[in-house]
Amino acid sequence: MNRTAALFVSFLAFVFSLGAQTTGETGVEEKVESLLERMTLEEKVGQLNQYSSTFDLTGPAPTDTGGQQRYRNIRTGRVGSMLNVTGVEATCRAQRLAVENSRLGIPLIFGFDVVHGYRTMFPIPLGEAASWDLEAIELSARVAATEAAAAGLHWTFAPMVDIARDARWGRIMEGAGEDPFLGSAVAAARVRGFQGSALDATDTLAACAKHFAAYGFAEAGREYNTVDISEHTLRNVALPPFKAAVDAGVATVMTSFSEIGGVPATGDEHLLREILKGEWGFEGFVVSDWDSIGEMTFHGVAANEREASALAVTAGTDMDMESSAYIEHLVALVKDGVIDESLVDEAVRRVLRVKFRLGLFDDPYRYCNEQREQQTLFSKSHLAAAREVARKSIVLLKNDGATLPLAKTATSIAVIGSLAADKDSPLGSWRGRAVTGSAVSLLEGIQEAVGADVRITYAEGAPLVVGTRNFVQELELNHDDRSGFPEAVAAAQDSDVVVIAVGEEAFQSGEARSVVNLRLKGVQEDLLKAVHEANPNVVVVVMSGRPLVLTWAADNVPAMLQSWHLGSEAGHAIADVLFGDHNPSGKLPVSFPRHGGQEPLYYNHKNTGRPVTEGDVFWSHYTDESNEPLYPFGFGLSYTTFEISKPELSSAVMDMDGELAVTVTVKNTGKRAGAEVVQLYVRDPVASVTRPVKELKGFEKIELEAGSERKVTITLRSDDLAFYTADGTWKAEPGEIVVFVGSSSEEVLEGRFVLSGETAR
Ligand code: BGC
Repeated sequence: MNRTAALFVSFLAFVFSLGAQTTGETGVEEKVESLLERMTLEEKVGQLNQYSSTFDLTGPAPTDTGGQQRYRNIRTGRVGSMLNVTGVEATCRAQRLAVENSRLGIPLIFGFDVVHGYRTMFPIPLGEAASWDLEAIELSARVAATEAAAAGLHWTFAPMVDIARDARWGRIMEGAGEDPFLGSAVAAARVRGFQGSALDATDTLAACAKHFAAYGFAEAGREYNTVDISEHTLRNVALPPFKAAVDAGVATVMTSFSEIGGVPATGDEHLLREILKGEWGFEGFVVSDWDSIGEMTFHGVAANEREASALAVTAGTDMDMESSAYIEHLVALVKDGVIDESLVDEAVRRVLRVKFRLGLFDDPYRYCNEQREQQTLFSKSHLAAAREVARKSIVLLKNDGATLPLAKTATSIAVIGSLAADKDSPLGSWRGRAVTGSAVSLLEGIQEAVGADVRITYAEGAPLVVGTRNFVQELELNHDDRSGFPEAVAAAQDSDVVVIAVGEEAFQSGEARSVVNLRLKGVQEDLLKAVHEANPNVVVVVMSGRPLVLTWAADNVPAMLQSWHLGSEAGHAIADVLFGDHNPSGKLPVSFPRHGGQEPLYYNHKNTGRPVTEGDVFWSHYTDESNEPLYPFGFGLSYTTFEISKPELSSAVMDMDGELAVTVTVKNTGKRAGAEVVQLYVRDPVASVTRPVKELKGFEKIELEAGSERKVTITLRSDDLAFYTADGTWKAEPGEIVVFVGSSSEEVLEGRFVLSGETAR
């Protein structure tokens, strides 16, 4: 049993000792129907209304008009759900307001963005995806759900499963990167982790796959911008992770703020009714994004919120997050004959179904246990899990001359950069209810890791200052203050080795944090150059929520780690890697550009009609930069080395209904144990529509002792080769297929086979 599995088992034992209970899901449909029959139209519409907490739910009733109205609505059954109400005291107070005062006593469902932890923070989702370790990712979501449920919550607005090909988009930090296959595997793992084995266990949350659909394809990477994506790319790239989440049983789905082809997602019948609820048979409910029903007036497809409500409910958006459009207009829309009441009934059915499945009707107060809340949050076992997942998420980008790992007995280390001492940035964006400044900083991690005879000198170099750009007070590194340079240079000169942290503060990525400049913010690159000139023995630790342009560093420094925003245990995890207590095994889930102008940049691009023309200018390229990424998808080094043999195929021909085994031998050719992610890609060179030059179709992460070897077999079936074809169906087409296996999307060896037989659906 590996360490993550062991942690998982001991964690489950701990949960059972706390008495997680389930109530069973039998007869849900009958219960839903019988309740629906007793509901008035007003009560039905109430179930579709979700408010964010705007008044103190633990204090006296609000006195302002807006607050009073909301308070009244909760008491009269005109609210079905609340978001941003957290903690046992507040959620249970609000629950009592609804259950004890409304006619039917229907419980509220409490939702919150539990994205990568509730109090104990795990790595940002993009970072976790770099672990390529589905067990670790599931464990992270499991711990997050356990804490959030202990804090009275029922529902998380996660996982975000949007494919992101553009590093300018700030929300790239929130998903699993650019690849639909990895994205689908991670989506399913997260749903399993949040929802556990039963929705009605008291330590699980209903999950929410978001943002349906193609939100990550915003033009120019600009947040909330227009999306114009073909059905082909939608089906082949954007939708698979949503489908995987639905297949894993995700309880809810959230719409996207954006439009596709002139139709805002919240009013998109094709997406919601035809694909999600029709083709995929999704039985849970669809929640709008924050005010995305109201925003359809700004999109310009509805003259007012009444029209927007009609569009949204007709399209299949079941619950209204915070726009109040449904509660204001749906009753009248039905009474005026504009929409049929059956549309409301269908939406209510879906909401009630999830509430029954959560066990809320058996006991609406089953999450109201303050003792459990105290015992569970930020517990030792959760922190241990966070450290384990964090160190697996680190990607070693460069390690010339075995600069790393550092010896714990080195005489002196300069630790440079304000991010190195910052106890807050590692918590990342979307940090649940983490306590500000509660992460282990890199400096602390290094101090704890080394012996007392090692001299550590810290110098800030470039300070974190309060930024003004984002209308909210945020620390950032966008400034030109060089006053800390001399101290940093002196520290570098005076030390054997320099560890410098650069990158982004927590809120320089995340929602509404799109950028045009992907280089290191402010003076950080200049600081790096100055420090490097003083002492070239530099290890760069990059903390960021997105791929940054690291070209100068890659060309000049001997060693570099991508450490994302790693969560509560960040400093310990990075130190584990710096000093070799953990051999890094992370692989990039997203391409790192050489220049921001290459974005969107992704490995699974098309060939084009002019892929390359030797000695000619007329091919698809930039005249001032290479097409290639700085670091490709799937890339990541280790302190050991691996050799992966040329793939052996079990047959030269695979039948449409058969399978084909692809086998490689992986050998650890270095001097220490380590883990390698064996990656299998395919290419369909001639098809009814153009296909990517490479597509990930399988991977396996294995651990190998120094000098040992192992065979790894990945089995392909025609389903794995299926795509959205020219005739609008999802199927594999016969013909030659190229298979590539290796340690990244670029380091591969290939084989070929023929897929034979009739095209199968
Ligand atoms: C985000 C969603 C989030 C919601 C509630 C919106 O701004 O787009 O992802 O779940 O807020 O916090």
